[in-house]
Amino acid sequence: MNQHLNYHQSKLQELQASLLEDAGVQLLVLREDLNHPFVSGNKWWKLKYNLEEAQKLGHDTLLTFGGAFSNHIYATAAAAKDVGLKSIGIIRGEKNLPLNPTLEFAESCGMQLHFVSREDYRKKTESHFVDQLKNRFGNFYLIPEGGTNALAIKGCAEFAKEKIRPIDCTHVCLPVGTGGTMAGLISGLEGKPKVVGFSVLKGGSFLKDEIESLLGSSTHHNWEIQSDYHFGGYAKQTPELIDFIGKMKQEHNLALDQVYTGKMMFGIFDLIKMGSFNRGSIVLVIHTGGLQGSGI
Ligand SMILES: *Cc1c(COP(=O)(O)O)cnc(C)c1O
Repeated sequence: MNQHLNYHQSKLQELQASLLEDAGVQLLVLREDLNHPFVSGNKWWKLKYNLEEAQKLGHDTLLTFGGAFSNHIYATAAAAKDVGLKSIGIIRGEKNLPLNPTLEFAESCGMQLHFVSREDYRKKTESHFVDQLKNRFGNFYLIPEGGTNALAIKGCAEFAKEKIRPIDCTHVCLPVGTGGTMAGLISGLEGKPKVVGFSVLKGGSFLKDEIESLLGSSTHHNWEIQSDYHFGGYAKQTPELIDFIGKMKQEHNLALDQVYTGKMMFGIFDLIKMGSFNRGSIVLVIHTGGLQGSGI
């Protein structure tokens, strides 16, 4: 019997602030971070159909890739354990002991960690490198770095249809790494409401092409990428960002992380301040989870 991941119902949280009243903008946060204690937020939806596919194909092991603080590694390790699969994590860079909390958790879920040099890590999509991994570890179901593939997009499209569509809103905002989640939302929402992605990487302009290629023929046009809120690049942070995250926690009881959701929310408030959202806008913010690495 195949086991499935548990899903906990998320909730909708409305933020109240004078800035929002002045701008005539309603801000709703879909607390998808609450959907699972360990496989939280978008990672739940990205893994759902990959887990099913691995089981359908008769695999007993998942293998995936990530950095030492990766939410994807953390979520995959927990998900594999939940559904009774083994897991292997190919980790970028040297092994440092003691393991950080992300990797320590992954290992406690039974994930076998294998550290590779940055140079080798770059080869992760080459078939020769994957063959070497098969020689070493035996057969496995491969999930790419960040978990983005066609089945991840299918899961995120389902999330959009089931959980976002019933909510009356004019905009849907989310943080963007690889673009897999955003591609799924665009595909599931089919052009309405508008999808606004906040790139957490510097030079996020390549993301537009990336998302178009992930969407293939199912492209819809009502979406855009904001690329001014990366705060210096992936996992980079500034005192201003940390201060903002502290205020969100204190004033709205809303925990955000520094890598993804904090940058997005800073961007949303900044755009509202600048009058970028029309009066009467209802902005739905997707809390994609990721609190594991943030120490909150
Ligand atoms: C992984 C992650 C993202 C990025 O998702 P992509 O599909 O790679 O764009 C966004 N938010 C959080 C919290 C994440 O963990």
